Amino acid sequence: MEKETIGIHYGYDNKKGERTMASPIYQTTAYSFKDAKQAADLFALKELGSIYTRLNNPTTDVFESRFAAYEGGAGAVATSSGMAALFNSIANVAESGDNILISDKLYGGTVTLCMHTLKRFGIEARTFSNDNAEDLESLIDEKTKTIIFESLSNPQISIPDIEKIVQIATKHKIITICDNTVASAALFNPIKWGVDIVVHSTSKYTIGQGTALGGIIIERAKLVELIKDNPRYYHFNEPDESYHGLVYSDVPLPLFTLRVRLALIRDIGTAPSPFNSWLLTQGLETLNIRMKKHSENALEVARFLSKHSKVKKVFYPGLTSDLMHQKAQKYFKEGLSSGLLGFEVEDFDEAVKVINGTKIFTIVVNIGDSKSIITHPASTTHQQLSSEELKKAGINPSLIRLSIGLEDSKDLIGDLSQALGE
Ligand SMILES: *Cc1c(COP(=O)(O)O)cnc(C)c1O
Repeated sequence: MEKETIGIHYGYDNKKGERTMASPIYQTTAYSFKDAKQAADLFALKELGSIYTRLNNPTTDVFESRFAAYEGGAGAVATSSGMAALFNSIANVAESGDNILISDKLYGGTVTLCMHTLKRFGIEARTFSNDNAEDLESLIDEKTKTIIFESLSNPQISIPDIEKIVQIATKHKIITICDNTVASAALFNPIKWGVDIVVHSTSKYTIGQGTALGGIIIERAKLVELIKDNPRYYHFNEPDESYHGLVYSDVPLPLFTLRVRLALIRDIGTAPSPFNSWLLTQGLETLNIRMKKHSENALEVARFLSKHSKVKKVFYPGLTSDLMHQKAQKYFKEGLSSGLLGFEVEDFDEAVKVINGTKIFTIVVNIGDSKSIITHPASTTHQQLSSEELKKAGINPSLIRLSIGLEDSKDLIGDLSQALGE
């Protein structure tokens, strides 16, 4: 099945149940068991089925299986937010005393999670260069549990050398985690390039209209071959005492997402609401066509900005002059580069003036909405970073970030034109 078709049909059979065209919303916390034996079998994983919505839910199942197919993965588990997807993915591999390798160009929340929150859990984050990954291999030791990067980083609009990262990770048998939120599953599929785990904040392009938080973790097929008897991941190969001795690497199911579901979400509780899963499934139906329009609009705005006298620099991989252009052509569907773009004006004050001057763009710290958004990272999303961290993350105080929506690009260009002035 092609992606467009998967996005609309996969994982739901409208000939079953009440034959509803839209997948039903199972707004329930718990499920009844036929008898005591079935209850026992479900708990023992002898039979697969619904127990409690913290573990699974039929509405969420549709979203998970559809998204896994869309990304070309073998299994998926949805979470309450993108940050929950990131936390659970990392907690699934690393424990106190371990280290994780993170790109120097990541979403602000991921940076604080890795550098501050996980530090208090005894997990050390080591930063590598997103642009060339030259230093990546030298940071690896036997306690390294994962390598994390974004396929299209937010907000620096940078694309790493994904092939090189995967090649180094494969050599050292380390699990790679790619945050594919900004590129979106419509434009890029990390698993096809050898990435092990894909995470998304589905709050962005997946939902498409800024109506619910969500996250998802997807694993590639045959990940068990990397994990089986790999000392880095001994906890997948030894009996899990919290699950009556289950050895995850012996279970014939996608084991990474299974462990997130059965062990982590069971204990941490970052399960999605069924209603949000339903909204997210609606989002997947139109993701492909929306990403095309977001990308086309963004390219037109980027072209306009790059010719404007008050604009110092434009960051958009769709521009042939952009440093990331070659990588966008190589990795992304038809070179389409999503709806996020950045540009720098003279200084901090000028950036504030432009932001306050726009009328169609809304000042919001979000991306991936049908409505166009303007943000000033230095004073908002990245405010918690020190000036040192800001510099390392490549965020100039005059940087303005746009998330280009689905309006007519002529109106967006007109709005920016009047806000910039001549
Ligand atoms: C928004 C975002 C997140 C966090 O997702 P939430 O759903 O807001 O928790 C993580 N990574 C990237 C790239 C994001 O844009």
